[in-house]
Amino acid sequence: MVNWSPVVVPLKERAPWVQVVGHAGNFQTAGDGKLLKKYCASEQQCLQRLMDDVLQPFVPRYHGVTRRDEQEYNLMDDLLSFFDSPCIMDCKMGSRTYLEEELKKARKHPQPRKDMYEKMIAVDPEAPTPEEKVQQAVLKTRYMQWRETLSSTATLGFRIEGIKKSDGSCNTNFKRTKYKEEVVQALDDFVDSNVTLLRNYQQRLKELRLVLEKSHFFRTHEVVGSSLLFVHDQSGRAGVWMIDFGKTASMPPPLTLDHRSPWVEGNREDGYLWGLDNFIDLLTGMLAV
Ligand code: ATP
Ligand code: MG
Ligand code: MG
Repeated sequence: MVNWSPVVVPLKERAPWVQVVGHAGNFQTAGDGKLLKKYCASEQQCLQRLMDDVLQPFVPRYHGVTRRDEQEYNLMDDLLSFFDSPCIMDCKMGSRTYLEEELKKARKHPQPRKDMYEKMIAVDPEAPTPEEKVQQAVLKTRYMQWRETLSSTATLGFRIEGIKKSDGSCNTNFKRTKYKEEVVQALDDFVDSNVTLLRNYQQRLKELRLVLEKSHFFRTHEVVGSSLLFVHDQSGRAGVWMIDFGKTASMPPPLTLDHRSPWVEGNREDGYLWGLDNFIDLLTGMLAV
């Protein structure tokens, strides 16, 4: 592993923990370089399994379940504690951000949804089909699939969820950041056009890819809605970790995934590695100019 060493910055020198995206009430800080995330059984199972997998160095270290004010939490390393006034980016990986299970559930209750129609036309009045326009409603399944096409999720296999820079500025307005050029612009801004940082991130992602291709955990899980957390600071160190395993589901043995094949309903492929390939290619392109 290169470019960052796991030296915890002393607490008194550390800026307060910041959250880029996600539900605001889900986190508490523990104050000792650890973070509490509201308990979720499937996430716990994943974090536990990941501690015994080759992916462990790319995941926050898991410290078990803890209770605070009648609420259970998963306790894990605060990845920001390795940095001094960090810049942070959350990228949701994969070409699909809902589980096949969720699609099946939505299909079981196929009522046309007016609320989703409204949300759809608020973004793009031309998105509904003529029939949907007549009904003034869309099915939830249709809405879920349409939503993926707004960002780069469907076209690149990842999307930027949010960027928080060390100057305190925060941008979570990437829901319609879709095209390569727009993503490149956002990445360039994230690193303040610093080529060394881009190279460090590229290197770290290449290392991650090699490990993902060997990982038993990865082969046997549908990884949906999970993010890569990018963190760097002025020292030039740049780290990337996998976070958010609330929607990561194990495959029934002996089924496995390659994470690159296109998704066809039933094959449970999530496009995670395809997205990572695209991400690395994008960085390589940025470094070539
Ligand atoms: P959602 O499912 O809506 O994405 P969530 O509640 O599952 O949200 P996460 O996605 O796990 O939450 O995390 C939300 C944010 O919290 C991340 O974008 C990141 O800024 C921060 N965060 C999460 N885990 C860590 C960690 N181990 N160390 C530092 N920051 C973290
Ligand atoms: Mg998340
Ligand atoms: Mg989540």
